[in-house]
Amino acid sequence: MHVRKLRLLTPGPTPLFPPAIRAMSAPDMHHRTKDFIDVYKGVTKDLKYLYGSDRSVAVFASSGSGAMEAAVSNLFSPGEKVIVCQAGKFGERWTKLTKAFGLEPIVIEQPYGTPVEPEQVEQALQENPDVSGVFLQASETSTGVSHDVEAMGKIVAKTDAILVVDAITGLGTQPLDVDGWGLDVVIGGSQKSVMIPPGLAFASVSQKAWDKGEKASNRYFYFNLKAHAEGAEDGNSPFTPPTSLMLGLGAALEYIREIGRDGLIENAQTLARATREAAQALGLELFAVKNPAGSVTSIKAPEGIDSSAIVKAFRDDYNAIIANGQGSMKGQIFRIAHLGYFDFHDLFATIAELELILSGLGHKVEFGQGVAAVQRVYAEVTAKQ
Ligand SMILES: *Cc1c(COP(=O)(O)O)cnc(C)c1O
Repeated sequence: MHVRKLRLLTPGPTPLFPPAIRAMSAPDMHHRTKDFIDVYKGVTKDLKYLYGSDRSVAVFASSGSGAMEAAVSNLFSPGEKVIVCQAGKFGERWTKLTKAFGLEPIVIEQPYGTPVEPEQVEQALQENPDVSGVFLQASETSTGVSHDVEAMGKIVAKTDAILVVDAITGLGTQPLDVDGWGLDVVIGGSQKSVMIPPGLAFASVSQKAWDKGEKASNRYFYFNLKAHAEGAEDGNSPFTPPTSLMLGLGAALEYIREIGRDGLIENAQTLARATREAAQALGLELFAVKNPAGSVTSIKAPEGIDSSAIVKAFRDDYNAIIANGQGSMKGQIFRIAHLGYFDFHDLFATIAELELILSGLGHKVEFGQGVAAVQRVYAEVTAKQ
């Protein structure tokens, strides 16, 4: 018998920031009192810092998909032609969501593990000058691929279309210049880089997108983007906000200010690089070769081993939850997350356990090779500081 702490190593929900947990257990608080309004205003200010933009950030009491839905329902009309960059399960969600609201998506589909290229978007826009929106994921969490959001933004900015970015795992893991790159709608979620439980969704909206929204005719009621964005400015949500999550968010954002927005991104990017190098040192193949994400690293299970067996061994042997592949990728790949409250300590342990697990499943492993790769990255980045 030995102690086995439960550890969540998935790309959402992610490990919780302990001071945020304490903040969430604060005593009774009414959302229309000055105490809470001050909390909300502070959160709005800090969300703007996280986004690196002065635009108001609407906060919804929902999972991330709620803000995705708000973008579609508030800013588009039935019958509008849009482009969806579909590089994985979350891209597929854009396709379904736009169709659900009567839009007509032109789907640029890439095989799992591969990003949509900016040139493909440019070409689709040229061929379809009546397109009014482009949808993409900054980081496609299901495959571990990131998109070239900067190039996409600059292409879409030259047209009348607006760019809607699902940055739910992109925020805090890769640079996003919201104003400079022309990112019209940028969506985030609480259970990813901001280190708190699921239940909040964020959306920042450009003037170009608000202007488009003025003319839009889709229906919505609760997911009113403008009301939530305006409410964020004066600390008054149009409906009852989840006060405990807001208190937790405030504490987590304070920490993010301390380490810096760029520090948070660099942390994810460095752990991502170390994870890739560890995987390769163990003779494993990466699933996302082009534009690997900072949020999560997807790794192919070795020949003859089902990735579900690796996921199960992590849970059974170490009480650690890692992510399997989704959909047809289930059984083929496993995913190691490193967004938000992840550190080198987590990765050293994860890779050491992976070595033991792979060896137990019959993959030839020389113990320590993966861990050594992480140690080399750690030594390199700390020497520079
Ligand atoms: C987690 C995630 C979402 C949101 O999913 P919800 O379950 O609605 O929170 C959307 N897009 C991406 C890329 C994600 O990683």
